[in-house]
Amino acid sequence: MSIAQHFATRAARMKASEIRELLKLLDRPGILSFAGGIPDAKLFPAQAFAEAYAEIMAESASKALQYSVSEGFLPLREWIAGQMAKIGIPCDASHVLITSGSQQALDYLGKLFLSPGDTALVNWPTYLGALGAFNAYEPRYDRLDVRGNRPASDYAQAADAAGGRVKFAYLSSDFANPTGETVDRTGREALLDMAEDLDCVVLEDAAYQSLRYDGEAVPPILALELARKGDLDACRTIYCGSFSKTLSPGLRVGWVVAAQPVIQQLVLMKQAADLHSATINQMVIHKVAETCFDTHVDTIRAAYRSRRDALLDALARHMPGGVTWTRPEGGMFVWVTLPKGMDAADLLARAIAEHDLAFVPGRAFHADGSGGNTLRLSFSCADAAMIEAGMKRLGQLLRG
Ligand code: PMP
Repeated sequence: MSIAQHFATRAARMKASEIRELLKLLDRPGILSFAGGIPDAKLFPAQAFAEAYAEIMAESASKALQYSVSEGFLPLREWIAGQMAKIGIPCDASHVLITSGSQQALDYLGKLFLSPGDTALVNWPTYLGALGAFNAYEPRYDRLDVRGNRPASDYAQAADAAGGRVKFAYLSSDFANPTGETVDRTGREALLDMAEDLDCVVLEDAAYQSLRYDGEAVPPILALELARKGDLDACRTIYCGSFSKTLSPGLRVGWVVAAQPVIQQLVLMKQAADLHSATINQMVIHKVAETCFDTHVDTIRAAYRSRRDALLDALARHMPGGVTWTRPEGGMFVWVTLPKGMDAADLLARAIAEHDLAFVPGRAFHADGSGGNTLRLSFSCADAAMIEAGMKRLGQLLRG
């Protein structure tokens, strides 16, 4: 008997993540890995966390160790509402749901909106974890054209022909994973226009939003929609935030800001799925955020900015002609495009075997399996010497 034959149809769409497999390489001594898109552990505010856990256990252990409400720890939701107001999204705690990382929000939003055969609009390439989360709900993907060059009716007809509807457009608005690119204000407005025409939801993934190193901040899509409509409860944009890139990914604390009917439905989902995110972790995140969020984010931005600069500088010196790359204003990633016909997955096998070098080949980020000549470089955990040595090796590999 094969137990797999009893799995639901949705299981067929769940595949091992290429990145998770690659993360194992980080442990191999001597490897220069630009693969894992994770924060630098040396930058975690470990002392502040140690003190926060100690204080909470001394002062409120019975609360911290107990079950708590599905909506999330109220003081944390209020703190988040205060942060959202600073970026043009005034709201109160009733518009905020705490999730176990923003990854959980993506899963819930897939579950909330996608019936099998419905269409999700995503960028080519897009965040692999979003495809992983949505895949379980058996959608069809179509390519999101942020510039709005494709008429809404075109998306709608294609979705209809596939037996479903366009339910949402998902995008990582600032310093996207994997490209590092940011959608400018005009692109965001055009996307909102298209969402109105299509009558679909916008899922705004703001996981990297706080990590801007230069240039002007662009208002979140939700802020632009709120400016149009004047009422958060009338907005179709759902904003997903995270403490993973700023304070710590290990605590698994993220949040959703949206119209109250959406939040209320997500609360029901959270009740059914995991009751609530870890009480003590929410309390600790709240304490650390209150004491040092801004200063800590300034510290990590300075560190990541210099790594980004080092990577862009090394790419300029070591890449052969015909190779192009993005110049991100923040985040953790640079996206490299190789000459047509080259295959980054083949290249990775040689990079590991011959050069002790790792990166993520780009195909997995494309819902249609294209992008074979692209790759993602992460600079968040690399120092200047590693970047110089790594890009020299990548240059040699590409020339060889
Ligand atoms: N969105 C994007 C674009 C990401 O890169 C990640 C993490 N790699 C997430 C969401 C999920 O992060 P978390 O669940 O830790 O908040």
